[in-house]
Amino acid sequence: MHKVTRTTLLFRGLGRCFLSEASAVRISRRGRASSQHEEKREESGVYDVVISGGGMVGSAMACSLATDPNLAGKKILLLEAGNKKVMDQVPDSFSTRVSSISPGSTTLLSRIGAWEHITHMRVKPYKKMQVWDACSDALITFDKDNLQEEMAYIVENDVVVAALTKQLHSLSDSVQVKYRSKVVKYTWPVPHTAGDALPWVQVTLANGETLQTKLLIGADGPNSMVRRELGIPTVKWNYDQSAVVAVLHLSEPTENNVAWQRFLPTGPIAMLPLSDSHSSLVWSTSHQLAEELLELDEESFVDAVNSAFWSNDNQSELTETAGTLLRGALSAILPSAGSPRQLPPSVAAIGPKSRVMFPLGLGHASEYVRHRVVLIGDAAHRVHPLAGQGANLGFGDVVTLTQILSRAAFDGKDLGAVQHLLEYESERQRQNLPMMAAIDLMKRLYSTSAAPAVLLRSFGLQATNMLPALKEQIVAFASK
Ligand SMILES: Cc1cc2nc3c(=O)[nH]c(=O)nc-3n(C[C@H](O)[C@H](O)[C@H](O)COP(=O)(O)OP(=O)(O)OC[C@H]3O[C@@H](n4cnc5c(N)ncnc54)[C@H](O)[C@@H]3O)c2cc1C
Repeated sequence: MHKVTRTTLLFRGLGRCFLSEASAVRISRRGRASSQHEEKREESGVYDVVISGGGMVGSAMACSLATDPNLAGKKILLLEAGNKKVMDQVPDSFSTRVSSISPGSTTLLSRIGAWEHITHMRVKPYKKMQVWDACSDALITFDKDNLQEEMAYIVENDVVVAALTKQLHSLSDSVQVKYRSKVVKYTWPVPHTAGDALPWVQVTLANGETLQTKLLIGADGPNSMVRRELGIPTVKWNYDQSAVVAVLHLSEPTENNVAWQRFLPTGPIAMLPLSDSHSSLVWSTSHQLAEELLELDEESFVDAVNSAFWSNDNQSELTETAGTLLRGALSAILPSAGSPRQLPPSVAAIGPKSRVMFPLGLGHASEYVRHRVVLIGDAAHRVHPLAGQGANLGFGDVVTLTQILSRAAFDGKDLGAVQHLLEYESERQRQNLPMMAAIDLMKRLYSTSAAPAVLLRSFGLQATNMLPALKEQIVAFASK
């Protein structure tokens, strides 16, 4: 059934593309001024691209299209249901929602001019990551060239969006933005319909305004209305976990350049650096424990966090003995002794009213594109936060889609033609699916304290820790 749909779409798309290529040739022969019918329609307010959703990914998409030289002169519009997020002054207190931004994403953000704003606002690089198992002694550390380079950067989501908003303002000649503009309806075009049928996607806003676009980019988050209204089959499930996030005050200032993550049987707990005396907590745990954690008074919550990072209550004699034997055996056959265990900083307090909880889930749209429509970011894929990759995958979508649309514009093709949109789909699914599968496997592998599973994963983790070449490959995979 699925194959039939894709094939049908592909052929419809190919037909559409041949048509548009032919008209592009005609236009270039006759010159711009004489492509009367097409241009009249453009003048009457048809956008070349409308992006629905101005979160981190949609806003980056708008900046990226607006700065691409081949797309100069295209009518681009970003629609965001929420308010415009400006940050004239960075607030003293840290926000609870943060993201680990990979070097690959910083390359995109630098190219579109937003990274400079971020570095002027607030960002904390980290140089090392330690991941360890609460049920055994197994651990792994990652760094780049022995701490010479940054592994990634912790940035508050509000800072990322404010930086992109600032950049969109400076690009206002190339991209229009409408805030407080919620889309309430989409009307889809039918490819190759003659007569009065709508050739473009029609977008209706909550205030009654209607717009038309040759290409709609759905960047409207995990509950994407674009994806739902198109009826795109989506593989999704809710995990048995929620994430509790909070701002942590450390007991004493440190260099604080390590990201810490410990796998507890109930889920991973992570402490991500924000400054020399603050870190961000992302504690994924059972829904019930998450609710209990939110109810605790501040002192008990801090005790619970410290105990989750420090306590050895989940280790058994069997796993401890097996772990010691395993390390001995591995060090005899593997090239490196692995890096030594470091202790995470202890927590003294939490930021006022900083505790929030989010239910976690996985989602993947089996199709990222349809005729004149494309999905990016969480609208196309949603992952567990344990690897800090959700927004980074979305930024990867932005890079690939920009390249493909830029080439299409250079070749004079119709931006909404499914033929090149399918290139985006296959390229991104090739990148996103292995990452999603790895994250889901990690979540499952670490959700048990059964001895055989603990021994198996401890062996894997310890062995990987002693193989520098393999660790380098893992770091490169996560840095894209
Ligand atoms: C606890 C937690 C920790 C995480 N940590 C990391 C991390 O360390 N690193 C990382 O890379 N990722 C992380 N993520 C994932 C990351 O937050 C998401 O992948 C990212 O926010 C998705 O961005 P988006 O722009 O695609 O979607 P969203 O942020 O959901 O934005 C969608 C936007 O669309 C707008 N919108 C929706 N419907 C409409 C409509 N009808 N009309 C107009 N506008 C609309 C919304 O207002 C919103 O602004 C984490 C997630 C969680 C839950």
